[in-house]
Amino acid sequence: MTRTTEPSFRESVDLMFNRAAALMDLPPGLEEKIRVCNATYTVRFGVRLRGQMHTFVGYRSVHSEHMEPVKGGIRFATAVNQDEVEALAALMTYKCALVEAPFGGSKGGLCIDPREYEEYEMEQITRRFAYELAKRDLINPSQNVPAPDMGTGEREMAWIADQYARMNTTDINSRACVTGKPLNAGGIAGRVEATGRGVQYALREFFRHPKDVAAAGLEGSLDGKRVIVQGLGNVGYHAAKFLSEEDGSKIIGIIERDGALFDTDGLDVEAVRQWIVKHGGVTGFPDATHVPDGGTVLEEECDILVPAALEGVINLSNADRVKAPLIIEAANGPVTAGADEILRKKGTVIIPDMYANAGGVTVSYFEWVKNLSHIRFGRMQRRQEEARHELIVSELQRLDRYLGDAWSMSPNFKAQYLRGAGELELVRSGLDDTMRIAYQSMAEVWHDRSDVGDLRTAAYIVAIDKVAKSYRAKGL
Ligand code: GLU
Repeated sequence: MTRTTEPSFRESVDLMFNRAAALMDLPPGLEEKIRVCNATYTVRFGVRLRGQMHTFVGYRSVHSEHMEPVKGGIRFATAVNQDEVEALAALMTYKCALVEAPFGGSKGGLCIDPREYEEYEMEQITRRFAYELAKRDLINPSQNVPAPDMGTGEREMAWIADQYARMNTTDINSRACVTGKPLNAGGIAGRVEATGRGVQYALREFFRHPKDVAAAGLEGSLDGKRVIVQGLGNVGYHAAKFLSEEDGSKIIGIIERDGALFDTDGLDVEAVRQWIVKHGGVTGFPDATHVPDGGTVLEEECDILVPAALEGVINLSNADRVKAPLIIEAANGPVTAGADEILRKKGTVIIPDMYANAGGVTVSYFEWVKNLSHIRFGRMQRRQEEARHELIVSELQRLDRYLGDAWSMSPNFKAQYLRGAGELELVRSGLDDTMRIAYQSMAEVWHDRSDVGDLRTAAYIVAIDKVAKSYRAKGL
């Protein structure tokens, strides 16, 4: 049956969950237990600004506590509401399960337009919100660990971490109360780029499977592929930058709030980003065609469409006109349940959000572990690794001398081989491994089961199975 009305975001997530759960053999009652959100806390608090009291509304929703702490970002946006926060919290549960980050799912949000406030005002508001959450253990290293999301970043996470530390002066693990912090405040190398990097690694893994690439009607590698990106925020920017600079993809379209830029020869992502930082939007960017009604660019011919902004942007009103054979959901929930149905029928391959944007929470996991272990990754072993490599290199140098002109070491070999991995290399390696393994677990279900026709259903099956197993292990 084709849907004619659009469900809410949370209903959309539930519908996708139900489709997968119906194909599983879950014990009676467990399906509902997993699907529902455990609790959502709403807070209304006042902050005195510019001589008067301002009331703000915020949320922290806990979807599943099958593992603790629960994890998920805090979003600052005017459209934040309970339905959205609950949908996002549910997605966090499935995302963490799929990539084996040992967390339950949670999400928070504050109804605010951060652009309307000065930095010191934002600090006051963020600290007060953090205080409200922390005093109820909705921020806590062992119970609930927030992170950045839309409208928040390192700056807000540093304020939250400091607020928690002020309230818990003897907690030796206080830094682990939030992730996505700046490096000098307990953060980890590579967290800012992590979600975009994860999108790149997800696509690289997809293109390592020629059968899957063929299912999308594509062939070859990422090199030369035409990509359209919606949203040049933290996720979209890094994904587009890495794909164009490292994989040879051509970013032919960038959609932003004030319209889209389009150029079939490929856009310079860094130049567009700098233009946005300086001018607040893409309008006026000199080296491309500006399309005022940016949303229409979602419907342009391309190989890969990367929605990296809001939920619900591909919906019943435009899904049948979307031509991209491959969509990778860098945002959470960009395709509604109704649009998903239309696209599946058309044969569009969708790499689902819970996998595609899991790079952020994966590196958050590494940061949390780093905070709890109180040591930077690589600190103990790096020089020892280099010393062992030095031994091999000196043996090879001896061989080099002995063999004379018959053989010699490649020019860069010594420098490359000698360098032990620092934190950034280790983070990237851990992220790459996570994205490869999670893709393979999802693709296996997609290929092996004749009743599973798409990657999203496969991802839900893998995730729900993991959550169910951990409930069963607890005797529930
Ligand atoms: N907000 C990000 C997400 O939606 C990151 C969550 C985290 O790192 O905990 O996945």
